[in-house]
Amino acid sequence: MSVTVVDHPLAGHLLTSLRDRATPPAVFRTLAKRLALALVLEALHDLPTAEIDVQTPLETAKGRVLGELVAVPILRAGLGMLEAATELFPEIAVGYIGLERDEASLQPQSYYRKLPPVSGRHVLVLDPMLATGGSGSAGCSAVKGAGEPASIRFVCVVAAPEGVARMQADHPDVPIFTAAVDRQLNDHGYILPGLGDFGDRLFGTE
Ligand code: URA
Repeated sequence: MSVTVVDHPLAGHLLTSLRDRATPPAVFRTLAKRLALALVLEALHDLPTAEIDVQTPLETAKGRVLGELVAVPILRAGLGMLEAATELFPEIAVGYIGLERDEASLQPQSYYRKLPPVSGRHVLVLDPMLATGGSGSAGCSAVKGAGEPASIRFVCVVAAPEGVARMQADHPDVPIFTAAVDRQLNDHGYILPGLGDFGDRLFGTE
Protein backbone atom coordinates (compact mmCIF):
# COMPACT_ATOMS: atom_id res chain seq x y z
CA MET A 1 0.00 0.00 0.00
CA SER A 2 1.37 3.38 -0.92
CA VAL A 3 1.36 6.79 0.72
CA THR A 4 1.83 9.72 -1.64
CA VAL A 5 2.67 13.08 -0.10
CA VAL A 6 1.64 15.73 -2.58
CA ASP A 7 4.55 18.14 -2.25
CA HIS A 8 3.68 20.66 -4.92
CA PRO A 9 4.71 24.13 -3.66
CA LEU A 10 1.11 25.31 -3.89
CA ALA A 11 -0.02 22.40 -1.69
CA GLY A 12 2.57 23.35 0.93
CA HIS A 13 1.53 27.00 0.77
CA LEU A 14 -2.17 26.19 1.17
CA LEU A 15 -1.53 23.71 3.98
CA THR A 16 0.47 26.33 5.89
CA SER A 17 -2.50 28.70 5.80
CA LEU A 18 -4.84 25.90 6.90
CA ARG A 19 -2.57 25.16 9.85
CA ASP A 20 -2.54 28.83 10.89
CA ARG A 21 -4.92 29.23 13.82
CA ALA A 22 -5.65 32.80 12.65
CA THR A 23 -7.22 31.60 9.38
CA PRO A 24 -10.99 32.23 9.71
CA PRO A 25 -13.61 29.66 8.56
CA ALA A 26 -14.53 31.49 5.33
CA VAL A 27 -10.91 31.51 4.20
CA PHE A 28 -10.32 28.01 5.56
CA ARG A 29 -13.16 26.67 3.38
CA THR A 30 -11.76 28.27 0.24
CA LEU A 31 -8.23 27.08 0.87
CA ALA A 32 -9.33 23.57 1.84
CA LYS A 33 -11.18 23.25 -1.45
CA ARG A 34 -8.20 24.56 -3.38
CA LEU A 35 -5.86 22.08 -1.70
CA ALA A 36 -8.35 19.26 -2.26
CA LEU A 37 -8.26 20.03 -6.01
CA ALA A 38 -4.53 19.28 -6.03
CA LEU A 39 -4.94 16.17 -3.89
CA VAL A 40 -7.80 14.71 -5.92
CA LEU A 41 -5.97 15.34 -9.19
CA GLU A 42 -2.92 13.53 -7.87
CA ALA A 43 -5.02 10.68 -6.48
CA LEU A 44 -6.46 10.09 -9.95
CA HIS A 45 -3.27 10.56 -11.96
CA ASP A 46 -3.25 6.86 -12.92
CA LEU A 47 -6.99 6.49 -13.37
CA PRO A 48 -7.58 4.04 -16.24
CA THR A 49 -9.19 5.59 -19.30
CA ALA A 50 -10.84 4.04 -22.36
CA GLU A 51 -9.77 4.92 -25.86
CA ILE A 52 -12.41 6.34 -28.20
CA ASP A 53 -12.53 7.96 -31.61
CA VAL A 54 -13.48 11.63 -31.67
CA GLN A 55 -14.38 13.63 -34.78
CA THR A 56 -12.50 16.91 -34.95
CA PRO A 57 -13.67 19.44 -37.56
CA LEU A 58 -10.94 18.01 -39.81
CA GLU A 59 -10.63 14.27 -39.19
CA THR A 60 -10.85 11.47 -36.65
CA ALA A 61 -8.57 11.58 -33.63
CA LYS A 62 -7.92 9.11 -30.87
CA GLY A 63 -9.28 10.30 -27.55
CA ARG A 64 -9.65 9.07 -24.00
CA VAL A 65 -12.60 9.01 -21.61
CA LEU A 66 -12.64 8.55 -17.87
CA GLY A 67 -14.03 5.55 -16.07
CA GLU A 68 -16.93 5.93 -13.65
CA LEU A 69 -16.10 7.69 -10.41
CA VAL A 70 -17.62 7.87 -6.95
CA ALA A 71 -16.70 10.36 -4.23
CA VAL A 72 -17.46 9.42 -0.64
CA PRO A 73 -16.85 12.22 1.85
CA ILE A 74 -16.85 11.10 5.46
CA LEU A 75 -19.15 13.49 7.32
CA ARG A 76 -18.75 16.07 8.33
CA ALA A 77 -15.18 17.21 7.66
CA GLY A 78 -15.01 15.39 4.30
CA LEU A 79 -17.57 17.88 2.95
CA GLY A 80 -14.73 20.39 2.81
CA MET A 81 -13.13 18.31 0.05
CA LEU A 82 -16.24 17.30 -1.89
CA GLU A 83 -16.65 20.36 -4.09
CA ALA A 84 -13.15 19.89 -5.45
CA ALA A 85 -14.14 16.42 -6.70
CA THR A 86 -17.51 17.51 -8.13
CA GLU A 87 -16.01 20.53 -9.89
CA LEU A 88 -13.24 18.51 -11.48
CA PHE A 89 -15.51 15.58 -12.35
CA PRO A 90 -19.10 16.85 -12.68
CA GLU A 91 -20.39 13.35 -13.49
CA ILE A 92 -18.99 11.84 -10.32
CA ALA A 93 -21.55 10.02 -8.16
CA VAL A 94 -21.53 11.00 -4.50
CA GLY A 95 -22.14 8.85 -1.45
CA TYR A 96 -22.03 9.86 2.19
CA ILE A 97 -20.79 8.08 5.27
CA GLY A 98 -21.53 9.69 8.62
CA LEU A 99 -19.03 8.71 11.28
CA GLU A 100 -18.38 10.54 14.49
CA ARG A 101 -15.67 9.85 16.95
CA ASP A 102 -16.62 8.76 20.44
CA GLU A 103 -14.39 11.12 22.40
CA ALA A 104 -13.87 8.57 25.20
CA SER A 105 -12.99 5.47 23.15
CA LEU A 106 -11.84 7.46 20.06
CA GLN A 107 -13.70 4.78 18.02
CA PRO A 108 -15.88 5.85 15.05
CA GLN A 109 -19.65 5.49 15.46
CA SER A 110 -21.73 5.29 12.29
CA TYR A 111 -24.78 7.55 12.14
CA TYR A 112 -25.49 7.78 8.39
CA ARG A 113 -24.69 5.87 5.21
CA LYS A 114 -25.99 6.46 1.68
CA LEU A 115 -23.87 5.08 -1.14
CA PRO A 116 -24.45 4.92 -4.90
CA PRO A 117 -23.53 1.69 -6.73
CA VAL A 118 -19.78 1.24 -6.35
CA SER A 119 -19.13 -1.98 -8.27
CA GLY A 120 -16.77 -1.47 -11.19
CA ARG A 121 -16.27 2.18 -10.26
CA HIS A 122 -13.27 4.05 -8.94
CA VAL A 123 -13.99 5.39 -5.47
CA LEU A 124 -12.39 8.34 -3.70
CA VAL A 125 -12.87 8.29 0.06
CA LEU A 126 -12.46 11.87 1.33
CA ASP A 127 -11.56 12.49 4.96
CA PRO A 128 -9.20 15.39 5.67
CA MET A 129 -7.61 14.18 8.91
CA LEU A 130 -6.25 10.61 8.97
CA ALA A 131 -5.69 10.47 12.71
CA THR A 132 -6.17 7.08 14.42
CA GLY A 133 -7.29 5.67 11.09
CA GLY A 134 -10.54 4.41 12.64
CA SER A 135 -12.83 6.53 10.46
CA GLY A 136 -10.76 6.05 7.32
CA SER A 137 -10.70 2.32 7.80
CA ALA A 138 -14.43 2.17 8.59
CA GLY A 139 -15.16 4.30 5.51
CA CYS A 140 -13.20 1.98 3.23
CA SER A 141 -14.86 -1.06 4.82
CA ALA A 142 -18.28 0.49 4.17
CA VAL A 143 -17.40 1.02 0.50
CA LYS A 144 -16.15 -2.56 0.17
CA GLY A 145 -19.32 -3.77 1.88
CA ALA A 146 -21.44 -2.02 -0.76
CA GLY A 147 -20.01 -3.85 -3.78
CA GLU A 148 -16.82 -4.52 -5.67
CA PRO A 149 -15.22 -1.20 -6.61
CA ALA A 150 -12.59 -1.16 -9.35
CA SER A 151 -10.38 0.79 -6.94
CA ILE A 152 -10.51 2.79 -3.73
CA ARG A 153 -8.21 5.75 -3.09
CA PHE A 154 -8.09 7.54 0.24
CA VAL A 155 -7.55 11.31 0.09
CA CYS A 156 -6.73 13.37 3.16
CA VAL A 157 -5.10 16.70 4.00
CA VAL A 158 -2.96 15.61 6.96
CA ALA A 159 -2.09 12.08 8.05
CA ALA A 160 -0.63 10.82 11.32
CA PRO A 161 1.78 7.87 11.27
CA GLU A 162 -0.70 5.98 13.48
CA GLY A 163 -3.48 6.43 10.90
CA VAL A 164 -1.24 5.40 8.04
CA ALA A 165 -0.26 2.23 9.95
CA ARG A 166 -3.91 1.40 10.67
CA MET A 167 -4.87 1.83 7.02
CA GLN A 168 -1.91 -0.28 5.94
CA ALA A 169 -3.03 -3.04 8.29
CA ASP A 170 -6.75 -2.91 7.44
CA HIS A 171 -6.71 -1.87 3.76
CA PRO A 172 -3.33 -2.58 2.18
CA ASP A 173 -4.99 -2.27 -1.23
CA VAL A 174 -6.02 1.38 -0.67
CA PRO A 175 -3.39 4.01 -1.55
CA ILE A 176 -3.32 7.18 0.55
CA PHE A 177 -2.85 10.68 -0.86
CA THR A 178 -2.08 13.49 1.57
CA ALA A 179 -0.44 16.91 1.76
CA ALA A 180 1.56 15.93 4.88
CA VAL A 181 2.37 13.11 7.27
CA ASP A 182 2.68 14.81 10.65
CA ARG A 183 4.56 13.74 13.78
CA GLN A 184 2.07 11.96 16.03
CA LEU A 185 -1.30 11.95 17.77
CA ASN A 186 -1.86 13.55 21.16
CA ASP A 187 -3.77 11.84 23.98
CA HIS A 188 -7.07 13.12 22.57
CA GLY A 189 -6.46 11.72 19.10
CA TYR A 190 -5.56 15.05 17.52
CA ILE A 191 -2.74 15.23 15.02
CA LEU A 192 0.42 17.13 16.06
CA PRO A 193 1.23 19.67 14.82
CA GLY A 194 -1.90 19.25 12.68
CA LEU A 195 -4.36 22.04 12.15
CA GLY A 196 -6.88 21.43 14.94
CA ASP A 197 -10.38 20.11 14.40
CA PHE A 198 -10.94 20.32 10.65
CA GLY A 199 -14.74 20.22 10.91
CA ASP A 200 -14.82 22.96 13.53
CA ARG A 201 -12.49 25.15 11.52
CA LEU A 202 -14.49 24.52 8.33
CA PHE A 203 -17.88 25.25 9.85
CA GLY A 204 -16.90 27.76 12.56
CA THR A 205 -18.17 25.52 15.37
CA GLU A 206 -15.20 25.81 17.73
N1 URA B 1 -9.78 15.16 13.41
C1 URA B 1 -9.47 16.46 13.26
O1 URA B 1 -10.28 17.25 12.78
N2 URA B 1 -8.25 16.88 13.64
C2 URA B 1 -7.32 16.06 14.15
O2 URA B 1 -6.22 16.50 14.48
C3 URA B 1 -7.67 14.69 14.31
C4 URA B 1 -8.90 14.27 13.92
